[in-house]
Amino acid sequence: MTDSPSRVAIVTGAGRGIGAAVARRLASDGFAVALLDLASDAVKANADAITADGGRAIGIGVDVSDAESVETAVTEVAERLGPPTVLVNNAGITRDNLLFKMTESDWDSVMNVHLRGSFLMSRAAQKYMTEQGWGRIVNLSSTSALGNRGQANYSAAKAGLQGFTKTLAIELGKFGITVNAIAPGFIETDMTAATAERLGVSFEEFKKAAAAEIPVRRVGQPSDIAGVASFLVSDDASFVSGQVIYVAGGPKA
Ligand code: NAP
Repeated sequence: MTDSPSRVAIVTGAGRGIGAAVARRLASDGFAVALLDLASDAVKANADAITADGGRAIGIGVDVSDAESVETAVTEVAERLGPPTVLVNNAGITRDNLLFKMTESDWDSVMNVHLRGSFLMSRAAQKYMTEQGWGRIVNLSSTSALGNRGQANYSAAKAGLQGFTKTLAIELGKFGITVNAIAPGFIETDMTAATAERLGVSFEEFKKAAAAEIPVRRVGQPSDIAGVASFLVSDDASFVSGQVIYVAGGPKA
């Protein structure tokens, strides 16, 4: 639980995977949660499931890379739930390819969703947080920020998010706002299933091979990330800011 004056959280990319798990967790922590995603049917269904469990949630269709769509959605959250004081920038895509095969569109799409999207969402939400004198922003980075074959676009975006996180922490700290990043390793979601498919291996084999390389000998689950997000948005984490927490079952990818 938290002493936030307004217990309203926004989670982007909450239609499935990590975002859906973070939204569920924050709802069970007592936040009213706005689930945002390109897929409006999915977020509405996820919000209905949270409401059925006794929480408070709404689902809104939004493209985080589009400034107008973001402004409209964040205003709608403030009107329907109250001023948002927690933002989890989780929406993401991959467009993997080796450099010589990577198209400009592969590059731009990944930059637009991860970097431009996190920038637009944070800019829109910070005004509510500064007014409340309390806020939490959590950005989803990745172990790929340390470099990953076939992901020049994605690793650049995820490393960029770490610099973005540290800079916002410096700028917004005096308003009672902390800004941190979670850098997951291998988490079992549609995103990693799509990577297995692209590499031509079954998801089961892919997970088994990944688990063998991870010190705790298992792949991660969305709930592993949700638990860390829950801590970072709590009052217990009020002196933690500008940090990147690797959640990868070991010290490195
Ligand atoms: P996922 O299952 O592919 O879910 C990503 C969600 O983001 C989808 O619901 C997707 O919507 C949404 N999205 C994509 N573009 C969007 C846009 N422009 N506007 C709004 N929503 C958009 O991915 P995940 O595995 O849960 O990953 C969540 C985050 O964690 C991402 O930032 C990812 O890079 C990061 N991460 C994941 C892993 C991993 O192993 N899974 C590891 C490190 C970091 P649609 O369904 O409509 O496409």
